[in-house]
Amino acid sequence: MNYAPNSAAARDIANVLHPYTNLRKHEEKGPLIITKGQGVHVWDDQGNRYIEGMAGLWCASLGWNEEELIEAAVKQMRELPYYHGFTHKSSMPSIDLAEKLKSIAPADFSKVFFVNSGSEANDTQVKLVRYYNNAVGRPEKKKIIGRIKGYHGVTVAAASLTGIPLNHKSFDLPIEGVRHTDCPHHYRYAEPGESEEEFSTRLAKNLEELIIKEGPETVAAFIAEPVMGAGGVIVPPEGYFEKIQAVLTKYDVWMIADEVITGFMRTGNMWGSQTFGIRPNTLSCAKQLSSAYLPIAAVMVDDPIYQAIADESKSIGAFGHGYTYSGHPVSAAVALRTLQLYEERNTLAHVQAIYPAFQKRLKALADHPLVGEARGVGLVGAVELVADKPSKREFAATDGVAAQCVEFAQAHGVILRAIGAGAVTICPPLMIEEGQIHEIFDALEKALDDTD
Ligand code: PLP
Repeated sequence: MNYAPNSAAARDIANVLHPYTNLRKHEEKGPLIITKGQGVHVWDDQGNRYIEGMAGLWCASLGWNEEELIEAAVKQMRELPYYHGFTHKSSMPSIDLAEKLKSIAPADFSKVFFVNSGSEANDTQVKLVRYYNNAVGRPEKKKIIGRIKGYHGVTVAAASLTGIPLNHKSFDLPIEGVRHTDCPHHYRYAEPGESEEEFSTRLAKNLEELIIKEGPETVAAFIAEPVMGAGGVIVPPEGYFEKIQAVLTKYDVWMIADEVITGFMRTGNMWGSQTFGIRPNTLSCAKQLSSAYLPIAAVMVDDPIYQAIADESKSIGAFGHGYTYSGHPVSAAVALRTLQLYEERNTLAHVQAIYPAFQKRLKALADHPLVGEARGVGLVGAVELVADKPSKREFAATDGVAAQCVEFAQAHGVILRAIGAGAVTICPPLMIEEGQIHEIFDALEKALDDTD
């Protein structure tokens, strides 16, 4: 495409190195430049309006013009725009937010460690695993097991936990000490005739075998998203986490819940851990924590973990980990206001009232000839496009069919996301109204027909 010299698109191509983008394709295709937002809608620089059917990157839960959050940020900026938490310093927003997070957490957590992103949260998890096991005199117990198609971020350690080839290839990852076990996608990986329960039993057995093969004295933790997001919205099969938890307990392996997407009502409960019966030792959360208005994320740890690392920090001299912006007061103030708004507006009841309509429209797409599976929970879902429905044959990555479908949806006024060769994902802001859910699915139906 030829863009006018000095147009915003030409300047973008000339200057911006885009994350998660085929960079050569971008040079031809150029950017969709979003210039404003209101409610569930965003506008591009040509004046076209879209429903943001992905809440940005699974995060803008309260939509695009939440004055309360803007005011919270401005107020805090005026009062104390920056302070930190190193060497016994603190500021009020991080104290208030830590207390609030603990009060709504899905487990009895003892302390909250603030970071700026999901990736930093999961890097922190890796460091906690190491620090804790050194502290308790088990220096050989350090390995962490992630899952194929799990997504935990892109920093060196977090990308290693991630089980997606694109995040490893050419980056020389994963790092040492990370293993990956099965992806719990029943549609794709179950044996013929295998029920969800049987599939879960087999996966838990495979996990146990992996732990035994590695040596249980070397395996420290298992990390899982309650619902795999960036792997294509993969909802765990019946009984999965119950069986996995039993294996983890048997071998004294931590359950790290990565609730970066599922935290704060996405699956129809406050936490994905509640929806799927997960009992985490530690938890990462981000994204909807601040409705994405400012970057902030958190790691919560249980008391045995805290006590061990506190002792170690005493003997070493300090817990030598932290970011300049850990507990940034403006981000923390916005996050606290976000959590208050969820309560004041009873967002949980709203999500529970509207997600049946979302899931009904989603599941109805399974009848479309291109759709192999329509899957989801709460207000998140995906359709998997297949080249051949009876055999579930996948499209080749180079076919770009999911990307094409997403482009058609965009032409019909809805922004969705393509993942891999075949998945089209949907994850709207939580404050979406039922009528707007229908608009999303009307557009997606048309897009599927266009793709046909
Ligand atoms: N963990 C999960 C489950 C995620 O979905 C993501 C991002 O999508 C991350 C971690 C990484 O978060 P961030 O992009 O904020 O580093």
